[in-house]
Order: sequence, then C-alpha cells, then structure tokens
Amino acid sequence: MALDRASTERAHPEWLAKRLEAPASRAVSSSPSGVLLDAGDPPRLHRRPLPPKVDAPILLGLDRGDALFAVDLEALEPAARERFTQGGRIASLRDAGAVLSHPEGGLAAYLVALLNWHRSYRFCPNCGAPTVVAQAGASRRCTRCGTEQFPRTDPAVIVLVENEGRVLLGRHANWPPAQYSVLAGFVAPGESLEEAVAREVYEESGIEVRDPTFVTSQPWAFPSSLMLGFQASAEREDPSARDGELEDVRWFTRREVGDALSGARADLRLPPPISIARLLLERWWRTRD
Ligand SMILES: [Zn+2]
Repeated sequence: MALDRASTERAHPEWLAKRLEAPASRAVSSSPSGVLLDAGDPPRLHRRPLPPKVDAPILLGLDRGDALFAVDLEALEPAARERFTQGGRIASLRDAGAVLSHPEGGLAAYLVALLNWHRSYRFCPNCGAPTVVAQAGASRRCTRCGTEQFPRTDPAVIVLVENEGRVLLGRHANWPPAQYSVLAGFVAPGESLEEAVAREVYEESGIEVRDPTFVTSQPWAFPSSLMLGFQASAEREDPSARDGELEDVRWFTRREVGDALSGARADLRLPPPISIARLLLERWWRTRD
C-alpha cells in the first residue's frame, strides 16, 4: 500500500482544514456490511469528494500527495448516504479482497480496521465517558480523563506444520464441506509468538512442534488482527482434534495439497488466494520435493 499516513502533519488543525477544502481531496467509505467499490474493471475503492460538513474527519493518509479520508456510511444521513454511494456498490471485505489489486486490498483492510475501531471505542475504557476523534483519526481522546486511545491490533499466529513432505491441516465444523486450512489462533497475554505457535498447534491437534520460523505477516481486518505466519516441524504422530475447536485434523501429502491448489480435488478445498494461509501452503508446496 503506497499511502503516506501523514503521521506528523495530521496533528495540525490548519493543515487538516486545508486538506478538507482541497478540490483534489477524496474519501473512501465502508459500513459494517462492507466497502464501497466503483464500477471499474477491475474495481477500486470508490473515491468520492467529501460529503459536506464532516465534523470529525478521519484521514487515512496522502495518496500521491492528495488527502484520502475515510467515511463511515452509517454515520451519514440517508439522503447524504444515497448521494455519496452513487455509482458504487457495497462488497464484503472478503468479496472485495478477491477482486481488488494488492495495494487496493491493503487500503480496504486499513479502512475497515480503522473504522471498526472508531465504531467500537466511542467510550473510554478507562472511565466510561465519551471519546472524540483526535489526530485526524489516528487516535481517540477521552472527554473526561483525557486518556488517548490508539487503534488496537490483535496478534494471531498461523502456522504451517510439516513433516517429511506432509502438512497438517484442520477444519472447523461450520466451514463449507471439504474446506481445510493450516492451524491458527490468537496470541495470549504474556506469550511469545513461538510459544503461541506451540500452544495453538498442541491444543488443536495434540502435535508438538519444533523450530517455528517466521515467514511473513498480513493484516486481517476480521475484525482487527495481524496474522503472523510461521512454518514449523513436527514428528509424524497421529493428530487428534482435542479442544473441540476443530472437527477434523490430519496430515496431507504434498501431492494432495498440489492437486487441491490447482483446484483438481473435490474432497480438499484450500483457503482463497488473498489469504496468508494460501500463501504459506503455496510456498511450502513450491519449495519441497
Ligand atoms: Zn476517560
């Protein structure tokens, strides 16, 4: 994502007022149902002139020098919302992720995560009084005790566990038939990422892993996670679904995974291309023989 978050400039009210008035400034928007896309092919986030009378503007950053704001469609009056969404369509973040370019997908994740946070932090966690937007949306400040709150990001680990050309995959009972993925879970307080990897895998499969190695990360705005992708090794024991979270967990061969990645298997479906789970699986499949 090539957006300058304008971390220094955004604290100055005069600078912000100029950005609000600048004809080239634009806004992208979302609601709890999704993000607003334009009619392009491929689509982009619908960039619109700002609605009039924005009293607490939330600035995402500068897009090639021009300000890009975030608008919560739920906060607009029906008539203003109607005007603002003209020529666009709402798509869930998952559906949008499948059609947007990589940088636009990153921008959509940022937009949704930031507006989700503003929606859920309207009251101070410290004293319960209302909070207001501060630093053009980079934080919120309590109107009573003055505490400043910053958007939170919840770290989660996602791990590809392998043993001699096999990979450990599990499925949740509420997933579509034949859908499997690598194991994942939130990091607990006081835990290192490596400890979280070992605990999650053991809880969900009974398998003990060694040498967890960090691979890559991905912001995951469902609702505000940062997925930290690992690869780890394990002895080839028989896994078993232990904590009731997974319906099934077992080893799959490299060939089974390869066939599933190319869509050739009806009995094994893997996560979509936008996901870090898919990236971990493709990377493992390419580098092993
Ligand atoms: Zn407070």
